[in-house]
Amino acid sequence: MLNQFDPEIADALNREVKRQQEGLEMIPSENFVSEAVLEALGSIATNKYSEGYPGKRYYGGCHEIDVLETLAIDRAKELFGAEHVNVQPLSGAPANLAAYVALLEPGDTVLGMDLSHGGHLTHGHPVTHPAQVWNFVRYKTTPEGFIDYTDIEAKAREHKPKLILVGYSAYSREIDYERIKKIADEVGALTMADMAHIAGLIAAGEMNNPVPIFDVVTTTTHKTLRGPRGGMILCKKKFKKAIDRAVFPGLQGGPHENNIAAKAVAFKEALQPEFKDYAKQIKKNAKVLEEEFRKREYRLLFGGTDNHLLLVDVTPKGIGGQQAETALDKAGITVNKNAIPDDERSYVDPSGIRFGTPAITTRGMKEDEMRRIADWMDRAMMNWGDDEALEKIREEVKTLTAQFPLYPGLIY
Ligand SMILES: *Cc1c(COP(=O)(O)O)cnc(C)c1O
Repeated sequence: MLNQFDPEIADALNREVKRQQEGLEMIPSENFVSEAVLEALGSIATNKYSEGYPGKRYYGGCHEIDVLETLAIDRAKELFGAEHVNVQPLSGAPANLAAYVALLEPGDTVLGMDLSHGGHLTHGHPVTHPAQVWNFVRYKTTPEGFIDYTDIEAKAREHKPKLILVGYSAYSREIDYERIKKIADEVGALTMADMAHIAGLIAAGEMNNPVPIFDVVTTTTHKTLRGPRGGMILCKKKFKKAIDRAVFPGLQGGPHENNIAAKAVAFKEALQPEFKDYAKQIKKNAKVLEEEFRKREYRLLFGGTDNHLLLVDVTPKGIGGQQAETALDKAGITVNKNAIPDDERSYVDPSGIRFGTPAITTRGMKEDEMRRIADWMDRAMMNWGDDEALEKIREEVKTLTAQFPLYPGLIY
């Protein structure tokens, strides 16, 4: 159907299928959803308007939509031990915005992590709109690379924030939520964790869970959690009304119920015992990459990894982040350039690259493959100007990925 009516789109999709199949996807925020998730995402639930929440809709005909949204909510509650869940946020950024709207008055102060130390744009970076509405104060990591809890404590006492925010997109270490909660209680601040990157590891019990400790937790559903592209907010009962109101009617209109159906399917998958094995393997694979890069004398930020990702300073090896990203791309390995803490280079060509293991672990790759991948990555970066050498690596990468089929037979 699609290829007959719109061959331009079908062709682009087919080339993208090939790219995903042949390459090594190492962007730590990406993953491959199951065919069941894809089916729900492409379902007729996309046809339905359902403003409101299960049992309290502003449209007729929502009976089955209520069934699937309730399943999504109940499964998310079970996965994370949450008192209340809102599955309607369209993505991670809108989920964070809704949490700010629910918890803060304009002008309130929020304490969040500096972007170059692993924080996210949506945590008050000056280029974002929320930075104009609320007063974001930033804490950093220590020179050894850990979250600077002493800095958080000092800044909390000095600035008396209404909200303390943790959760990062380039930080590779565990987070001590109890310790943050104690600081917040001392200064009368609310607590919010953004677990976008690590939600899957938390669901599997492989990383500390902020949900029972913090007031509000936001997440994406498409990173380690391996669901459809989307967002979600988990909170204590006390904040249920404020959170639900901030999402709808505060910021959004009709929820995307096809997406919510796909979230429900992904949560069911994450509740299976195999998902625990998956999360364990993500971490094991990241540890192997850590060892291999350390051996080759790259500088690992934050001293290594406790989760699925690594932030690596490539400048000691005589190249920049952009050169590294481009070389790896030519070799069939997708990563992203990334600033390192207090980076002196520009965001357009920073000192580091960020990469991780969720997607390649979904494909079934284990320790042996990681050692080969680290070797290819090193070779590609050390030969960044040599297109022939990069093409040779690309061919080797293709031979490996062919042994780990992805969506076999898929053609649009
Ligand atoms: C990815 C991410 C987001 C934003 O998610 P989008 O779905 O891209 O809007 C927010 N916070 C953190 C920590 C993230 O890693």
